Amino acid sequence: MGARDVLVKATPDVQQRLLELQAVDTAMAQLAHRRRTLPDLATIAEAAQRLGALSNDGVRAQTEIGDLDREQRRLELDVDQVRARSERDEQRLVSGAVGSPKELERLQHEVQSLARRQGELEDQVLELMERRETADAVMQDINRSVERATAEGDEATARRDAAFAEISTALSDDAVERGRLIETLPADLVALYERIRAGSGGTGAAALRQRRCEGCRMELANTDMNRARSAPPDEVLRCEECGRILVRTPESGL
Ligand SMILES: [Zn+2]
Repeated sequence: MGARDVLVKATPDVQQRLLELQAVDTAMAQLAHRRRTLPDLATIAEAAQRLGALSNDGVRAQTEIGDLDREQRRLELDVDQVRARSERDEQRLVSGAVGSPKELERLQHEVQSLARRQGELEDQVLELMERRETADAVMQDINRSVERATAEGDEATARRDAAFAEISTALSDDAVERGRLIETLPADLVALYERIRAGSGGTGAAALRQRRCEGCRMELANTDMNRARSAPPDEVLRCEECGRILVRTPESGL
């Protein structure tokens, strides 16, 4: 690998500080990951989606209520007309003004048929009122669901905001710590570290602990262990497996 050509030297304490920098970078990556994957984000999105669907349901229910009300008013007008006509007929019947038996019979017949018609219309009004009650119940159900989804969304938003604030504070603290560490590290080491880190999932430097590279978790072969043992302390080693900067520690097993 080309990076191997870069000869970087750093004293053991500088190499230790590189591990501190790596720890800060790992912590920052974890904070960013936590911010991206907060369960509250899914809850908020889900609540918003539910509210969208409920809004459509609400429009539909409201339209049905409007239609039923209009239909009921129309039927009630019909009932009023039939009733008025029936009253007029009754008055004529009792007034004695109608002398012709044929006309009397016609009026009586009409009164009967108007009464039937009125009964039918009143039944329809009753049926409409029942449908109106059902529609009202549906609307109340929707309103309760809206309240619930709104509350859940609001609570999740408050939790998200609190978590974001906390993460943001931690990230700022880490950024300060990162800047402080970078200032104490040689530029060529930092450049090498950054280049490896960018290509290795965020880990540029790893400790050698109990013969194992903590970057890739692989145990070093005997030849590599011998090389790590005999290399000058200020030589910056690289893991043969993963290419990461390998920092020797008192627990390396050398
Ligand atoms: Zn490795």
